Amino acid sequence: MNDYDLYFNNYIIKIIDKDIKNNKNLKIKTRFPPEPNGYLHIGHAKSIFLNFLIANKYNGECNLRFDDTNPLNIKNKYINSIKKDIDWLGFKNKYNVSYTSDYFDEIFNFAIKLINKNLAYIDKLTINKIKIYRGNLNKIGIDSPYRNNSISENIDYFIKMRNGYFKENEICLRAKIDMKSKSLLMRDPILYRVKFTYHKRTKNKWCIYPTYDFSHCICDFLENITHSLCTLEFEENKKLYNWILNNIDINGFIPKQYEFSRLNLEYNILSKRKINFLINKKIINKWYDPRICTISGLRNRGYTPNSIKVFCKKIGVTKKNSNININILENCIKTDLYENSYRIMSVIDPIKLIIENLNDNYEEEIYVPNFPNKKLSSNRKIVFTKIIYIEKSDFCECLSNTCNKFSIGKIIKLRYSYIICAKKIFKDKKGNIKSILCFLYENTVNSIYLNNIKINKIIHWVSYKKKINSTFYIYENLFLDKYPYKNKNILNIINKNSLIIKNGFIEKSNNKIIKNRIYQFERIGYFYTKLYYKDKNLIFFNIVNI
Ligand code: ATP
Ligand code: MG
Repeated sequence: MNDYDLYFNNYIIKIIDKDIKNNKNLKIKTRFPPEPNGYLHIGHAKSIFLNFLIANKYNGECNLRFDDTNPLNIKNKYINSIKKDIDWLGFKNKYNVSYTSDYFDEIFNFAIKLINKNLAYIDKLTINKIKIYRGNLNKIGIDSPYRNNSISENIDYFIKMRNGYFKENEICLRAKIDMKSKSLLMRDPILYRVKFTYHKRTKNKWCIYPTYDFSHCICDFLENITHSLCTLEFEENKKLYNWILNNIDINGFIPKQYEFSRLNLEYNILSKRKINFLINKKIINKWYDPRICTISGLRNRGYTPNSIKVFCKKIGVTKKNSNININILENCIKTDLYENSYRIMSVIDPIKLIIENLNDNYEEEIYVPNFPNKKLSSNRKIVFTKIIYIEKSDFCECLSNTCNKFSIGKIIKLRYSYIICAKKIFKDKKGNIKSILCFLYENTVNSIYLNNIKINKIIHWVSYKKKINSTFYIYENLFLDKYPYKNKNILNIINKNSLIIKNGFIEKSNNKIIKNRIYQFERIGYFYTKLYYKDKNLIFFNIVNI
C-alpha cells in the first residue's frame, strides 16, 4: 500500500463508504471551519487535507466556512491569510467561501422554533449564577427559576433581547434539555448571548450572537454538509449537535459529526492563542516567523506545499492523541528537496587550509554536477586554489584513532577535488587555530583511492580566492521541551539559540545565485536566499539540516 491508500484506510472513510452504499445519490460534502482569529498552523493543515482530500476522493465539495460568531475576534487580515494559506496548500478555486454570519437570520428563526416548542427559554440569571447552578461532574445542576416561564414570555423577551433592550450578561437564551444530565454540556447550554459589538460583515444589524455549538450544526445542515469532521475535544459536543438538529424539525440528510485526534508536534506549539502570546512577548516576529509551524511560517522557512501534504498523509487520521516526532516533518521536506535542489559547497564556520605543495597563484578549474543524484545533470565550474576554507567542525586537534574527524597525519578527500594529508597546525596568540598546512597527492581529483586504499572521509571546501561572503541564518527548535503545550509557562522553556547567525562563505562558480532558489549546501543542509545583504554578505536562510 502506498501512502495515499494508507491515508484513506481510516475509520472515517469506512463510514463514508457505508453511507454511500446505503444512499447511492449522496453527494459528499465536508467543510473546514476556522475562526478568523489568527493564522493557520500545521494542525489546521491536517484538518484541511482531511476535508479537501475526502471531497476530492468522492467527487464532492468542501466549504471554507469562517466561524465569525464572535465579532470581537475577527480580523480581515486573518481571513485573507487563511485563504492565502489554503490556496498555497494546493486548493485554489477548489472551495466555496461562506461565513456563519451568512446564516444569522436562519439561526435566529431556528431559535424561535425551539422556544415555540418549549425547548428553549430566556434566562435572566447572571453568567456567574448560571455557572453555579450548572453544578459539576459530582453535583447535579439546579433548574433556573426562569426555566418554566411561558412560551409567549420567552418569545417576547427574545425579541426584546434582539432589539437591544437588555445589557450584556443580563440575559441569554438557553436550550431546555436536562439539568441532571451526566454531560455538563447538556445542562441547558447557552444558545444566544447579548453583545453590543460591531460585526465586520453584519455591521450593526445584530446585538445578539449565537454560540458556536448552536450555530455550527445549523450551518452544517444549511450547507448540506454530510460529514462534519472535528477534533476529539468536541466529542462531548456531539450530543448537543445531534440534539439541536433533531429538534429543529428539518428534513433531508442530517449531517453527522466525527472526531479525529489533534496534531501535536514535538518542540512546537499549535494554538493560535499561544502563538499570539509569543508575538506579543516579542519572542517571535509575527505569525510568519520561520521558527513556528504556522503555514506562513513554514512557507517563509522554505517548506513546500507538497512536503506538508506528504506529512499529513504520513501521520494519517486516528483517534489516538500523540506528539508527532519533528523528524517526520523534517524528513518530508528533505525528501522533497533532495533531488531537485542545486548543490553548492559552503563553509559556515571556516578555518583556513593551506596546500604546501602548490604555488601561490595555482588555479585549477573543476567541473562538478549541479545535481549529483540525477542521471543527466548540468555542471558548474569551481576553482581549486592553494588556500581553501574547510568547516571548523570537520577538523579535530586530537590524535586519537577512534576520532573520525580530519586531524594531523590523517588523509581525507576534498569533495570533487584532491586527496590531502594534514601536516601542521598554526595557531594565533590566543591558541585558536589560524590555519592547517596540508600535503596534496597529485592525480587524485577523480579518485577516492590512494595506493589502493579507499579514502572514506570526504569533506567540503570553498576556495579562498573564489568565494562569496555569506551570512547564514540557522534555526533550531523554538522550545527546549518536547512537550511545550504541557508547560504552564512556556516562557520558561524558550530556546535562546533558536536563531543562530554565522558568517562564512559559499563557492563562487559560473552559476549565478538566484533569488528564492533552494540550494543544498553539501553535507550541511538546505538553504535559500532572498538576495538580501548584511554587512555586504549575502544572507542565506536555513530550511532544514541534512
Ligand atoms: P487553536 O487552538 O489553534 O485556536 P482551534 O481549534 O480553535 O485551534 P479553529 O479555527 O476553530 O481553531 O479550527 C478550525 C478547524 O481546525 C477545526 O475543525 C479544528 O478542529 C481544526 N484544528 C485546529 N487545530 C488542530 C490541530 N492541532 N490538529 C488538527 N486539527 C486542528
Ligand atoms: Mg478556537
